Amino acid sequence: MIHVVYDSKCLDYNTPNHPESPLRVKLITSSLRALPSVTFTNPASYPGKYATAVHGKLHINKLRSSYNPFSETPITPHTYKYAKKAVDCAITAANLCLTSGATFSLTRPPGHHAGKNSISGFCYLNNLVIAANYLIEEKDTKRIAILDIDVHHGNGTQDLVLGNQRYLYASIHQHPLYPGTGITDNQNCLNRPLSPGTRGPHYQVILSELIARIKAFKPEVLAVSIGFDTFSQDPLANFNLDIQDFHITATLINSLDLPTYYVLEGGYSNKVGDCAASFFSGIA
Ligand SMILES: [Zn+2]
Repeated sequence: MIHVVYDSKCLDYNTPNHPESPLRVKLITSSLRALPSVTFTNPASYPGKYATAVHGKLHINKLRSSYNPFSETPITPHTYKYAKKAVDCAITAANLCLTSGATFSLTRPPGHHAGKNSISGFCYLNNLVIAANYLIEEKDTKRIAILDIDVHHGNGTQDLVLGNQRYLYASIHQHPLYPGTGITDNQNCLNRPLSPGTRGPHYQVILSELIARIKAFKPEVLAVSIGFDTFSQDPLANFNLDIQDFHITATLINSLDLPTYYVLEGGYSNKVGDCAASFFSGIA
């Protein structure tokens, strides 16, 4: 059984013609509701201190007071409210995975480009890292592996965990592509940049190597930044994975047999729901 943590309020904001749209989550929601092995649950509300613990007060205050609605990563007076709800979904998913199997924080805005003091790439707060830090602080979790399978490098996540031996960060991403980072390994961060046009068989070889590295790290929890923008028809990137490849990817990750929470990052095609259904049918 997969517990999907979902709050429909994440559909309530929208920048016209922006790729990070409510439709993405709507499509994934309707596809996952059709799966027999999925159950939906509401997020709990957590104090803002967990976001502050990761980003610092300056970042939070700036996010709450800035106004830049026409930026690629737009900020309005409501942005913090929605970003905080995404954090609540991720912490709820992290908490729940300790006792209830795989969980999925199905929400927006995404988070893996948000660094300690930076917003970018449609991201404001690093949902996954805030939830991981919550597990370390509140649940005495010692080691957490982060696998980032969004097509973009999670530069914000790397910024937040670099050199912290409680974490192993492993990312497969397209290069060249935004944000242009993640070309080589850096301390506890393993980066596997792959060329545009990468297909499933090669992708799965690289993923298997990273999964072996994660296994050797002996984490207590696995946190996955999941992006469906590795799909061949995604408008923002150029990997060549098909729908079935998501199922295979999930099967490989599931072989780790760890308490796992998944956090939604990117995925912008009109088949994002089909990608998600293929993926999560490989987990259940
Ligand atoms: Zn992405």
